[in-house]
Formats: sequence, C-alpha cells, structure tokens
Amino acid sequence: MRFPSFLLGNLYFVLLGSSGKTRYIKGMRPFVLDPLFRSVTSLPGIGARMGKTYERLTGSAKIRDLLFHGPVDLIDRRRVYPVAELRPGVTATLKLIVDLHTPPARRGQPYRVRCHDETGQITLVFFRASGEWIQKQLSPGAEVGVSGRIEFYQAQAQMAHPDVIVPAGEIKTIATLEPVYPLTQGLTNKALRKAMDYALKLLPDLPEWQDAAFRDRQGWPGWREAVRNLHTPQDGADLLPMGGGRARLAYDELLAGQLALGLVRLRQKKKNGRAMPAGRGDGDLRARLIAALPYRLTGAQERALAEIDRDMAEQLKMLRLLQGDVGSGKTIVAALAMLTAVENGHQAAMMAPTEILARQHAEGLKPLLEPLGLRVVVLSGRHKGKEREVLLRQIESGAAQIVIGTHALFQEGITFADLGLAVIDEQHRFGVHQRLSLSSKGKWADVLVMTATPIPRTLTLTAYGDMDVSKLDEKPPGRKPVDTRLIAQDHLAELVAALGRRIQDGARIYWVCPLVEESEKLDLAAAQERYLALRDHFGAERVGLVHGRMKAPEKDEVMAKFQAGEIDVLVATTVIEVGVDVPEASVMVIEHAERFGLAQLHQLRGRVGRGAAQSYCFLLYHSPLGKTARERLDIMRKSEDGFLIAEKDLELRGGGEILGTKQSGLPQFRLADPEIHGDLLAAARDDARLILDRDPDLKSPRGEALRILLYLFEQDQAIRYLGSG
Ligand code: ADP
Ligand code: MG
Repeated sequence: MRFPSFLLGNLYFVLLGSSGKTRYIKGMRPFVLDPLFRSVTSLPGIGARMGKTYERLTGSAKIRDLLFHGPVDLIDRRRVYPVAELRPGVTATLKLIVDLHTPPARRGQPYRVRCHDETGQITLVFFRASGEWIQKQLSPGAEVGVSGRIEFYQAQAQMAHPDVIVPAGEIKTIATLEPVYPLTQGLTNKALRKAMDYALKLLPDLPEWQDAAFRDRQGWPGWREAVRNLHTPQDGADLLPMGGGRARLAYDELLAGQLALGLVRLRQKKKNGRAMPAGRGDGDLRARLIAALPYRLTGAQERALAEIDRDMAEQLKMLRLLQGDVGSGKTIVAALAMLTAVENGHQAAMMAPTEILARQHAEGLKPLLEPLGLRVVVLSGRHKGKEREVLLRQIESGAAQIVIGTHALFQEGITFADLGLAVIDEQHRFGVHQRLSLSSKGKWADVLVMTATPIPRTLTLTAYGDMDVSKLDEKPPGRKPVDTRLIAQDHLAELVAALGRRIQDGARIYWVCPLVEESEKLDLAAAQERYLALRDHFGAERVGLVHGRMKAPEKDEVMAKFQAGEIDVLVATTVIEVGVDVPEASVMVIEHAERFGLAQLHQLRGRVGRGAAQSYCFLLYHSPLGKTARERLDIMRKSEDGFLIAEKDLELRGGGEILGTKQSGLPQFRLADPEIHGDLLAAARDDARLILDRDPDLKSPRGEALRILLYLFEQDQAIRYLGSG
C-alpha cells in the first residue's frame, strides 16, 4: 500500500525535525519538494474535472508542471489612460465615473453604460450579460477602474466587455502586466492565472545546485526567483527562450538530464569492469573470421573496432554507441567484438528489436561464426516448452558462446553463465534508461549499442549523455547511390506501369504504406487496399503483404518469400523499417512520403541500394505540397548522408519532432529546447562531468542540492544508483 506522499512528508518532518538543512531519507523524495508534486486539484477552486483539464494542458496534474507552464504573451495594463488619448486597438486601463445605463430595448441589442473622466466620454458595451450584475458592478455615480480593449464606433470610444472592473480605489491591482498563457478548451487565462498565483505561493526555497561562479557569470537568479520571473515577464524579451528566468530553468532541466545519464553511466562503467584484451586465446578467432570475409573492412570499421578494443581491454565497463547509417556495416564490427569476448572465455549476446531482425542477424552470423567452432544459439519467442528449456540450459551452462535474440527475450529471466559483451541493435526503438539498464543481465558485461539513427550532435548529448561514440562514416565500397525521385500521387498509374517493366528485368520492390492518422486500423486498411490493387496489376502470386498485426511466423513466411524471390512486390506498413536485408531489392516506393520524418525516410531508403543493380526510391506525395514539405523531400532527393539529413530536418522542423516519432527514445523536455539551448546543453554536460569527477556520490553540500534537482525532474532511475553500492 502506498501512503499519500504529503503524509509521509509530514511524518519525516516530525522524525527529523526542521534543522534548516534539507534532510531526506535515502531513496525518497525530499519532503521540501512535496508541494510541487501535489495535484493541482489541491489548489482552491480546482476540482477533479478541472484537474483533467490541467493535465491535458501541461501533461500532468502536478503543481510542478503548472509552474513550468510559462506565458507566451503579455498584456500591458499598467498605464491609466485619459479617455481623450485612447486609440482603437489598444488595451487600456481607465479610471471612470459611471453616468447612464441603457438596457437593451430589444433582444439582441447590447446593454450600454456611458461613463466619463475629465477628458471625455466612453461607452462600456455588454452583450448577453445580466443587467443585475452590471448594475451591481457599475452603479451610477460610482468611480471605477476598468481595463480592456478599446474600439471606436461612430467616432465614439467603446470598450466591449471589460476584462476587469474594480472600485477605483483598487485600480492598482488591475494596472499590471498580465501574462498570457497557452490554454486548452475549458480553461480561461483568468482562471489559470488565479491557479498560478496559488501555486506560486507554494514555491519552496530550494538550496542552490548551480555552480555559484557560473550562475553569477550568467546573471541568473536563484531557482525560486527564476520560476517567479517566468510568470512575471516585464517585456517581450522576457518571453524569449533566454529571457526572464527561462534560461536558468532550461539549464536546470538539462543539467538534471545530463547528471542522471552521467550517474547511470558512471556506475555502469566504474563498477564491475573487467579486461578483455583483443587477440587473446589460442585460436585467434578474429583473424580467422577476417580472413574468411569476402571483403576488406573499411577504414571506418577498422577505426571503430580499434576504439571498441581499447574499451574492452580496460578494466572498466564499456558503454559505447556504434553509430552508422543503414548499410554501413555495423554487424560485422559487432561480431568481431563478440569474438573478443569469446576469446577471453566469456559469452556474447546480440539483441534485436524485432523477431525478424533477430532471425536475420542469426542467419548472417551463423555462417561466419559456426565454422570457427562456436556454438551459436538463437532464442526466439517461438521456442516453447522443452525446446526452450534446452536452449536456456545451454545459455546457463555456458555451452552457448553466442546468443542471439530479441530485447524482450533478454528482459525475461534468462541467466547467462558468464556474459562478457551485450550488443544491442536498437534501431531507435529504445529509451535511454531502458538501454542503459539492459546490461544488468551480465553484471560484468560490456555494452555496445548499435544505432542507425543519425542523431545530430546536440541531440546525441541529450539521448546518450557522454556515452562514447564510434561512427561509421564511410560506406562499404561499390554502392551505387539510390536514384531518388518525387512523384505526385496523381501519376501512380504511370509509376505502376514502369515498375511492371522493372519486375520483368528481375527487380524486387518494397512498397511502403504510411501510418494513417496514427490509427493502426486505418493504417492497415490502406495497406490492404494497395495490396489488392497491386495484385490485380502484377498477379496475385507475385505480391505479398506484411503488417504489424501479423503473427511473427506469418510475417517471416512472407519476408522469406520476398527474400527468395518468390514474390516481387512486398507491400508493408512501416514494419520493414527495422532493417531486413534483401540485396536484390532495388526499388522502394513510399506513399505519402510527406508524412514521414526524414530520418524515417532515410532508414526506409536504406533498404535498397545494397546490391549490384541501380536502385530507385520513389517518394509519392499528395499535392499540393507546402513549402517546408517540398524542401524536406528535396533534401531526400539530393542527399544520402544520414547525418546531413538529420541536421536539415532539425533545421526545418525543430527539435521535438526530429525523428518524426515518439518512440525515438529521445527525452522530452518541459523547459529546454535542445536546439535553441544548444550552448546550455554543452555547458550542462561539462558541468555534470565535473560534478561527478569530484563528487560521484553527490555527498558534498552542492551534491545534496543536486539530488534535489534530480528529484525535481523525476530522474528517479538515476537516483536509485546513488549510494546503492
Ligand atoms: P548495418 O550497418 O545497416 O547493420 P550491415 O552490417 O547489415 O549494415 O551491412 C550491410 C551489408 O554490407 C552486409 O551485407 C555486409 O555483409 C556488407 N558489408 C559490411 N562491411 C563491408 C565491407 N567492409 N565491404 C563490403 N561489404 C560490407
Ligand atoms: Mg543492421
């Protein structure tokens, strides 16, 4: 059972007393943060229903997230205008004496109240308002303060529905700078401001976690001040990403992220390391494998391998990212690293995101590894009962030296005799923490993550922290560039006719149907419809369909047919994204290409251009294409450089959407924007490194404050690593 956190907070308050210093219990959020983690429904005037509205707005019902919800605009009501100086369109505060009420004579007419000051007359206009209410607010003869937008009607100043009306004595309370917030249905700016006022009163005073000298140089306020500044912008500059407390808050968020990554990594790296020098053992398996390859390693592959060798030879645990475009030859590099683990007497494992990919890795690696006398075990979701038992025993006894399977399989209870290296082929399907914690399978295991996601540098930092990176920036020789063309959907018939001729020449074709409106059902319907149409055209036995809802064996059967050339056209939802290798496939058709992220298009296109034949990629789009959409697709036409494509995509679309998909594993930020705050991100990374060099367990006073920062941003995963061993 779980206690409400505020109860626990109070309990510990009693136990520990208030010593002035922030105290906390190991593994528990310090109670000083509790007000921020309460629900907005604990604020006056917010019920369960309104709570849901806030949740929709800020992504959570926590008061913290309300406080991180900054204004986007500003209304200046500070100046009390004389009526004679009013101009149309200004938002003005006025001090007026109420003269004459004119209720509507007929339905549909407004209620009018004439007022004046020393300089002139103005009419306040109300549509569909209760006369009683108006008479109460504006009794004739009274002096009032009002604020609202000025209009002119027949040369007469008017204000329709003043935003606020108060007795003249309280005019100071309305002559303010009013922040304007992004809203959602069912929420007014006024209501939100009221809630925010309550929330701001709850702001705790937190110890400073930033480096004092750095903060001074930046001219930033303390945390509490920064949150207040966020909600009290003084001018337009305060609304910009670097203004009014925003830069500091963004930095805090980035620092929390970098620190969390650093902590996870530090623990993974520092603890449990062991040395696995390359080329140890009797057979020198590696030399034999390299000799057996029908090609020579590229310079980039050699370089990456040397970096991996150096890491593995060290006493520390390796945590390295092998980044390279689709087709850059990551698999063989990983295989060679696995051999190092085996030569050192340990096991090695390779995990893939899908069943198909795991099979493919197995099919590629078995013929290379088994001739070396190694036992390679492939563990699949399809192995059940006895068969599975036998495989698991081989893994547990150490008889299996190399194990290949899906991520899911590894997360279930498999025990290795002695795992030395875990290779994770992630294909951008994986979250950071998941990725980092996977290797806990083998306490000692080195970790090599393979990714084809061409993440730009700044984003690599946010996703992987300062994980070591090896890049395969050179493709194996002999690849012809893929001829990429943009084709309007209206020309579909011509395309199909042309493809018919290609098929007669032996080409195999991928035909990708996109996600339709995020709905798997509609998505499937579109693919099925295209499948039927193409069957009509090319012949029923020549066209296959794979989609996410098919069972693995069915899927594999169709894939196998395509691989073997028994079918020529493979219609697919984006399942083929995860890297099936069919060198004979030379044509890629992508429908509704404008709906895909560029990184995704790039990955898909990488499926062709692997064989000897000239390859083509046809990007079908629906007219008319907007300017940005056109530019984005043009980039695809002009470039095959994944890193360049990713940078351009980022430029055109902004950070949040870089991969066009939420499952990208990139963290989502509330306050920071890695693109805009790129410099801050780099500074946060350096800061985090320095902190962890000096105080790896966060025990110093600044370290204690930094723990609070981690809790503030819910980096619980990282906190668990603190002081736990
Ligand atoms: P990815 O980086 O996408 O995982 P793979 O490892 O699947 O790429 O390699 C793609 C293809 O390139 C494979 O068929 C592989 O045998 C081949 N390959 C890998 N390295 C080289 C090389 N140095 N020279 C020629 N072909 C290579
Ligand atoms: Mg691969």
